[in-house]
Amino acid sequence: MSSFQHLLGKHLTSTPLNTGEVVAKVAEASVEDVDTAVSAALAAFPSWSSLSPIQRGKPLKKMAEKILSSTPELAELDAISMGRPVSSFFDADYAAVHFNYFGEAAYAQGHTSLNTPGFINMSLRQPFGVVGIIIPWNAPLVFFSKKVAPAVAAGNCVVLKSSEKAPLTSWKVSQWIKECGFPPGVINVLSGHGHISGSAISSHMSIRAISFTGSTRTGRAIQIASANSNLKKVVFELGGKGPALIFDDADLEQAAKDTENSIFWNSGQTCMANSRIYVQDTATEKFVEVFKKLASARKMGDPTKGEINHGPQADKVQFEAVNKYIDAGKESGGKLALGGEEAKTNGETKSLLIHPTIFLNADESSRIMKEVIFGPVVVINTFSTEAEVIAKANHTEFGLYACLYTKDLERALRVSKKLESGMVGVNCAAPTGCWDLPFGGWKGSGTGRESLLESMDHFLEVRSIYFKCPGIGG
Ligand code: NAD
Repeated sequence: MSSFQHLLGKHLTSTPLNTGEVVAKVAEASVEDVDTAVSAALAAFPSWSSLSPIQRGKPLKKMAEKILSSTPELAELDAISMGRPVSSFFDADYAAVHFNYFGEAAYAQGHTSLNTPGFINMSLRQPFGVVGIIIPWNAPLVFFSKKVAPAVAAGNCVVLKSSEKAPLTSWKVSQWIKECGFPPGVINVLSGHGHISGSAISSHMSIRAISFTGSTRTGRAIQIASANSNLKKVVFELGGKGPALIFDDADLEQAAKDTENSIFWNSGQTCMANSRIYVQDTATEKFVEVFKKLASARKMGDPTKGEINHGPQADKVQFEAVNKYIDAGKESGGKLALGGEEAKTNGETKSLLIHPTIFLNADESSRIMKEVIFGPVVVINTFSTEAEVIAKANHTEFGLYACLYTKDLERALRVSKKLESGMVGVNCAAPTGCWDLPFGGWKGSGTGRESLLESMDHFLEVRSIYFKCPGIGG
């Protein structure tokens, strides 16, 4: 369904790949393409869903192998499309874990009940049929695998739309679907924009469930389209404005190291990143000194080069949006401690690189404290009491990932309980997580949870069967 022409790459160009040059041309899916993909998925569903979990698992496990053995190529495709440094590419390992796990773990079970006299009752968990998957650009292969693997393992057929900003790894993986042994129509990959193919998926009458990761704004649009069409089941992983709370008894060096990595990894394009840091006033000076030193040492440049750990923003739109936030930050009452002005240029090269940018003591109600920037911009504010910092941390419409640093274990638990957040790191920061606990957000950060143990639930409908059996007695 998708066609792709690779124009540039390390063999074809000497231009540093951080400049916003065109690197590929990718087909744009139309509404008709979505219909064609849904028809193929509907046709494939009866036989795919009637296979055993082991039979369905075979192609999933082959896909895991194929992805792992292609790690360098996949890393390069994300580097050239959205600027992700190859040095930070963990996505193939992550994807392989998901395809391998769901290749063996798709034993969905319902319940049985003898609690109604004269009946043997049971519930069944069955696939929906066709499910829609819409993914963002910041870690495309991660989202591809964490949604597609459980969906098809459960017996569904999928129509996935990649992000217009980073379609290349999804395209590459789509080329292996047949080779891995998936029957035609089980996994359908489209590339295209949100307002055409994304909307068509969200409002399609034959798609019964949708799994989406992306911005809160788009989540809202998909929710409305789902409600206005056939009331699809939705699961959303959305934006975050993560707070980090640093108490003065913490290991400040470690806290600075972790929180600096959290916000500047992937050039700030991480939903879980701690973009708001609150440091107790007695510890601010030391924390800021270490944090600034680490941020200043980031190696910026061409993301295909192994020594680079800070690549460009995904595209010109993101670059301009982040720079507007930097301008807004200068009016936030805060002090620019790093980055800012020089962020817009990189020596003589016109580039989409933005320097790590730190604001100190910005107004709590300013835009850089309230809105998702999705770039390498952090605010470090201060607090004096526990109650004050909890109130500040929770004063947001988001609730994805919060973290706190302290050596006082009772305080750690007390504060963790009070933070309005789907995930809380104690003496560790995002992206620290684990495979088998629920991943997801409170408030505007989402609805539903994903993980190896949870994700398949979204892709299964439940049916209760009341089986009248008077002959069984009592
Ligand atoms: P986005 O919402 O702009 O786009 C995400 C996807 O939705 C893309 O494929 C896009 O084409 C599609 N889309 C856009 N408009 C649509 C519409 N009206 N109908 C259907 N689909 C539509 O988000 P993005 O810019 O790709 O990603 C950045 C955002 O994603 C940030 O807000 C970030 O915090 C969030 N994010 C969240 C998580 C998480 O797990 N919670 C992970 C990564 C990113």
